[in-house]
Amino acid sequence: MAKRGTTSIDLARLSLSHGEGARLDVLVELDPLELGGQTYVLRGDALETRVDASRPSNGYAFRLRFPFRLEGPCMRCLEPAIVETEVDAREVDQADTEDEELRSPYVVEDRVDLSRWAHDAVVLATPSRILCRADCAGLCPVCGESLNDADPENHKHLSDRDPRWAKLDELKSE
Ligand SMILES: [Zn+2]
Ligand SMILES: [Zn+2]
Repeated sequence: MAKRGTTSIDLARLSLSHGEGARLDVLVELDPLELGGQTYVLRGDALETRVDASRPSNGYAFRLRFPFRLEGPCMRCLEPAIVETEVDAREVDQADTEDEELRSPYVVEDRVDLSRWAHDAVVLATPSRILCRADCAGLCPVCGESLNDADPENHKHLSDRDPRWAKLDELKSE
């Protein structure tokens, strides 16, 4: 799958003085995500992100916000599922510090890598189990049909078994 272009913010071009801030609306493309062995794609062409950048005293503070909608298979029944939520993430990046906690991994050489930050933020904001509905019943473990709209009576495969098989099981366990 072709990698999309990287979107970043050039901090030098923002040329913020101490105490100043800037707000930017930036479109960020998102590659399909692989989660739990399934592929999820963004609804829409790109993430419509809002970035707030400011220079408190030393270095930068950033806030990244955007709503998003992912589509892909339900992790239980494989029917279409949707994740719709919002990201509200913050980063700080202080200059001249050895403290890794105060450096943002997304700021490299005076550029904020919005593509990578937005990607990671989407992964963090996405539930670990993506379901078509909270009470998705999943697939029948015997025949593989979705149980969501099924009559449970039709999937009592074990108890439907020919009684002669049960007899055989008894013999085997003796
Ligand atoms: Zn489901
Ligand atoms: Zn079944």
